[in-house]
Amino acid sequence: MPASAFRSRLNEVNPDPSGRRWIFVAYDQLTDELGPLSREDPSTLGIVLVETPAKGHRRPYHKQKLALLLANLRHFALEQAARGVAVRHLVHPDGYAPALADWIAGHGPIRMMEPAERELRLELAPLVDDGRIEVVPHDGWLTTRDDFIRGCGATPPWRMDAFYRQVRRRSGILMEKGKPVGGKFSFDAENRQPWKGTPAAPQLPTFPDDPIKDEVVRLVETQFADHPGTLDPAALPVTRADALRLWGWACAEALPHFGPFEDAMAARERNLFHTRISSLLNLHRLVPARILEDVLALDLPLASREGFVRQVLGWREFVRHVHQETDGFRTLDPQGAPSALGAKEPLPKTFWGGVPSGMNCLDTVVTSVWEEGYSHHITRLMILSNVATLLDVSPRELTDWFWAAYTDAYDWVVEPNVLGMGTFGTGDLMTTKPYVSGTPYIRKMSDYCDGCALHPETTCPMSDLYWAFLNRHRALLAGNQRMRLPLASAARRGEGQQASDARVTRAVQQALVGGKPITPAVVTGARKPS
Ligand code: SF4
Repeated sequence: MPASAFRSRLNEVNPDPSGRRWIFVAYDQLTDELGPLSREDPSTLGIVLVETPAKGHRRPYHKQKLALLLANLRHFALEQAARGVAVRHLVHPDGYAPALADWIAGHGPIRMMEPAERELRLELAPLVDDGRIEVVPHDGWLTTRDDFIRGCGATPPWRMDAFYRQVRRRSGILMEKGKPVGGKFSFDAENRQPWKGTPAAPQLPTFPDDPIKDEVVRLVETQFADHPGTLDPAALPVTRADALRLWGWACAEALPHFGPFEDAMAARERNLFHTRISSLLNLHRLVPARILEDVLALDLPLASREGFVRQVLGWREFVRHVHQETDGFRTLDPQGAPSALGAKEPLPKTFWGGVPSGMNCLDTVVTSVWEEGYSHHITRLMILSNVATLLDVSPRELTDWFWAAYTDAYDWVVEPNVLGMGTFGTGDLMTTKPYVSGTPYIRKMSDYCDGCALHPETTCPMSDLYWAFLNRHRALLAGNQRMRLPLASAARRGEGQQASDARVTRAVQQALVGGKPITPAVVTGARKPS
């Protein structure tokens, strides 16, 4: 067996482990800016890091996600050893709990910051309950439960806007004499411009190879060979220096134009002005408080600054609180599969890549996901979730797809975002309405229709799907004020058109589930009464 570059390097730099107080550092807590690692003398501390193929094989994770996580964990181990923290790197085939139980049996109880992921909390609960693991608070969060309850109330429905206003007031962030800077809390309405090619979108940075990253890439390509997705080492930030480089790029190149174009989508420039930091933020290679501090110190247009602050201080924190309050929605549904609209169709094969749907909007985004493990939040909401919701796809199945496919997805993030917001699976618990649209929205906010074999005015099925969705779920949506106008418009379509919309929906569902593309003939054929 060839020598491991990682193990050799760790052996070279790892300090003497004797007499250390040990901390288990979870895979998504890779920072020394939080918790005991930030406060205690490195020479008195040891960290235990665990790699377990059981986690990687739990779902068909994108290869880029596995490589990102493992390479960052290994580089974090080396960085900590270099600053004097003793490192124990464990590999266990069966999970985190057996790895830690074995280690604790030989070394005594251990501390850890509270895991963000429910899955990890559940796995470690027996060790926490009998005192083998002492849990200390996770101080990476920017807001408290008190903020959430004060802002939104103890019981649902919960609204992000109310939470965000509370947090802005309490923290004083973007506030002046008790009033929001610029006269309003949100510049969302101004941040909805389509992108027509100017300003030019910045090119993403690339990151150097190194022996640790190379070894992880080989490990993923062999041990997870059957997993989907392209592994692109040059796109992987793996060291702390890489993380800071990405953040420097985001501040200089992306953020100045982020706000106005944050809802824009483009096939020719996938990323536009998004910072791409979410994967590193959720691993804590970048720490939210530091990111926020930097953005507040930057000279940025207010709409861009507020738009970014709302993402990090508002939405990201809000979904975490919803996750905590509902135990990952298990208080609504013990299986974690709420579906307020009763949607239970299978996820079309096209989402897994390599089976074109014929819809350029969907195919462009799906391709980018399997090439990069990423697409920005509007493509997630208004293309992927929109199409799935209009086709009554099971919210749980779509959520699990996002969880596997995106490098920034963990249960606390993906369940609220997809089960809650993307599919309206939890009804009005955390959003006011389903986020669905027909052809005009996609045509206005993207360039996807330009390259589509379906014509937006004649053969595109998106608006047919949209009207059919509204009429199909009319009874469940009727009490929703924000759906009053769309429902009224849907009702005006008349019986013949409504029947046609329903036929197109069925034809699209059947084609996609059967792995067939939507062609103009599929749509026009379905529109004709039989
Ligand atoms: Fe999507 Fe329709 Fe536009 Fe094609 S024409 S890209 S299916 S919205």
